[in-house]
Amino acid sequence: MKTKLGLLYGGKSAEHDVSMQTALAVIKALDLAKFDIYPIYITKDGSWINGPKLTAPPEDVAALTFLPEKSTSPLALQAHSTDENGESTGYDVIFPLLHGPNGEDGTVQGMLELLNLPYVGNGVLASSAGMDKVIMKNIFAHAGLPQVKYTWFIRSEWEANKEAGIKKVEDEIGYPCFVKPANLGSSVGISKCDDSHSLEKAVAEAFQFDRKIIIEEGVVAREVEFGILGNDDPTCSVAGEIIPKKDFAFYDYSAKYEDGNSAMVIPAEISENEFAALSAMAISAFKSLDCSGLVRADFFLTKEGKIFINEVNTMPGFTPYSMFPLLWKHTGVDYPALIEKLVKLALERHREKQ
Ligand code: ATP
Ligand code: MG
Ligand code: MG
Ligand code: MG
Repeated sequence: MKTKLGLLYGGKSAEHDVSMQTALAVIKALDLAKFDIYPIYITKDGSWINGPKLTAPPEDVAALTFLPEKSTSPLALQAHSTDENGESTGYDVIFPLLHGPNGEDGTVQGMLELLNLPYVGNGVLASSAGMDKVIMKNIFAHAGLPQVKYTWFIRSEWEANKEAGIKKVEDEIGYPCFVKPANLGSSVGISKCDDSHSLEKAVAEAFQFDRKIIIEEGVVAREVEFGILGNDDPTCSVAGEIIPKKDFAFYDYSAKYEDGNSAMVIPAEISENEFAALSAMAISAFKSLDCSGLVRADFFLTKEGKIFINEVNTMPGFTPYSMFPLLWKHTGVDYPALIEKLVKLALERHREKQ
C-alpha cells in the first residue's frame, strides 16, 4: 500500500517562496512507487487549495499553485479512510513544509491534531515554544544550557518608558547587543547595536514585526549547527559551520537568501571534545522542548572556547542545499532517505499518542 502524503506548502509568511522551492525538491525526491502525493497549497493571502494527486513531478513551482482553482477549508482535510464503495479518501500523513508564524509555530500543528491527522515534525508545544525566543531561552536556562545574557520587552512596556528600557539593556546586557523580534526566523527584523541611538532604532524596527522583542548580549563567535532526528531517542548529525561573507555584519537575511556566498563547512572543524559537548547540548535542547521529528540546533563557539546555545529551529530550511539536509547527507542519510525517515517518525509518534 502506498502512503498517501499531503504536502503542505506556501503560506502567508515571508518564507512563502522558500517553501515553494522546498516543496518542489521534496516531490522530486519522493519515490512515486511508495507515495501518492497530494499537494496542499497555501496562497500568500492564506487561502488553502487542495491540488489533485500528482501523477508526475511538476516542472517548476508555478505548476504547484493550481490557480485559479477554488480554495477549500483547511478543516476539510481528512484522515485516510475507505468508503462503502471501496473508494479511498484522505491522507495517511501530512508534511508541513512551512516556516515561521502560522506554520512553524504550532498553529497548523494544533489544527492537524484536532483533525487527528499524523504530521511530520514537531508537535504543538515544541513548535510554539521554539518559535518564541524568550520562552525557548527560559526553558533552556531551566535545562542548564549555557546562553548569552538576554532580556525582553513588550511594545507597550517599552513605549511607556524608553529611557528605563534603554537603561535596563545597558545595565543588564551592554553593547554590542542583538535586538530580535521574539517570534520570527531567517534573521528578519534583527539588528546589531553599539550604542543607545542604534538600540532605539533597532527596537523600533523589531517591533514592526512583533509585539514582543528579545535583546541579547552580542558575542564574537563561530556559528556551529547540528541536525537532530528522532522522537523519544533522537540522534545527532555531524556538525556544520556557517561562515558568513566578510562584508556582512552577521548572518542576516541577505546573507542567507540573496547572497549565495555564505559558506557552509560540513563537517565543521571542531575538536572531539567540542563535538561531544555540543552534540550532548543539542540533544538536551531537543528534549527540553519535547521536540519530535527534527530540529536544527544552533550554537556560538568563542575563541576562548566558550559555548552558548543560540536557538533551535523546529522547521529548519529544508531544500536539498539547506544546512539540515546537508548535515544528514554527510552523516549518511541522503535527502530521499531523510524524507522517508521523517514520515516514519511522524506515523510512529501518532501511534504512540493513541
Ligand atoms: P534562523 O531561524 O534563520 O536561523 P533567526 O531569525 O532565528 O534565524 P538568529 O539565528 O537568532 O535568528 O540570529 C541570526 C544571526 O544573527 C545568527 O546566525 C548570528 O549570525 C547573528 N546573531 C544572533 N544573535 C547573536 C548574538 N547574541 N551574538 C552574535 N551574533 C548573533
Ligand atoms: Mg531561528
Ligand atoms: Mg527559522
Ligand atoms: Mg538561527
